[in-house]
Amino acid sequence: MASKSELGVLRAPNSDLTIGIDLGGTKVLGVLVSPKGELLDHIRTPTPKGQDAIVECIEDLVSSLVQLGASNYKSNVSALGVGVPGLVTRQGSLNFAANLEAGQNFELKKILEKKFPSMAIAVENDANCAGWAEWKFGAGQGVDDLVVITLGTGVGGSAIVNKNLVIGSQGFALEPGHMVIDPNGPLCNCGRKGCWEKFASGTALKELAKKYALEGKASLVLELANNDPSAITGEHVATALKQSDVQAGNIMNEFSLGVAIGLANLANIFDPEKFIISGGLVQMGDLLLDPVRDWFSNQPLGYNFRNLINIEPAVLGEMAGAWGAADLALTNDDSI
Ligand SMILES: [Zn+2]
Repeated sequence: MASKSELGVLRAPNSDLTIGIDLGGTKVLGVLVSPKGELLDHIRTPTPKGQDAIVECIEDLVSSLVQLGASNYKSNVSALGVGVPGLVTRQGSLNFAANLEAGQNFELKKILEKKFPSMAIAVENDANCAGWAEWKFGAGQGVDDLVVITLGTGVGGSAIVNKNLVIGSQGFALEPGHMVIDPNGPLCNCGRKGCWEKFASGTALKELAKKYALEGKASLVLELANNDPSAITGEHVATALKQSDVQAGNIMNEFSLGVAIGLANLANIFDPEKFIISGGLVQMGDLLLDPVRDWFSNQPLGYNFRNLINIEPAVLGEMAGAWGAADLALTNDDSI
């Protein structure tokens, strides 16, 4: 499997800064990173629509961060990494993005190389960037094999295998949210039925709680949502769980089984040292992770004959994608 080595030669001289940008569906986050990998500054702006506007937005962010670097840190910027949502080729073209109005075949890396000829440029999938950051700077430090899963609106992920980020032959590896766990399950946006994200995402938790409420099995959760089933959110479930509500416990029990099934599938493939869970749902902490751990413990193949794989929350929060993108821009790999 193709990978990007952590042992890449640094292109940037040691005193130079790096910029990382996380291009999200609603906001663009730019960070300035020190030569030692520390976050120095960040700027946030809404995501515009269309390729030209996105490029312009990135140029503005880069120019502001370059100025910040010169005035506050007396340093140049010589590398730029951008994390983008969707299918990103090894050549840094965004072929398809469901949550971004950027058309198709957006050759972002090529465009940025022309705009910033003095900088090393990387364009990577955003989940890969975030996972890389958790491994390098966050909850995954010190392990050789790691799987990072993001439970948000959908389910994303990345894997580090023997200290290398798994990219795939085209760049499209690790889309665990679209691993089918029930062929008779609900229809996914991708066109298949029963994808993992239909059971393990924040959206899935909301849908499950709504179903329980409509069946009269979630009184407190429904009450917290002002008796409007369609207004139920994960936070309502979390609030009810904190009050030891049995019905909310039933919802979380069913939901966490769905999360655990996918993790066990990934454990059978990657045998990671640990799983790190990021994304909006991880704010629930052990209310979510403890039942997931319980379900997961006896699912991986030969669970009695292997070490239990720890499931831990991510620690870098929303900066992870931009931070990881900046670091990946320092990795010299001409095949990407
Ligand atoms: Zn799918």
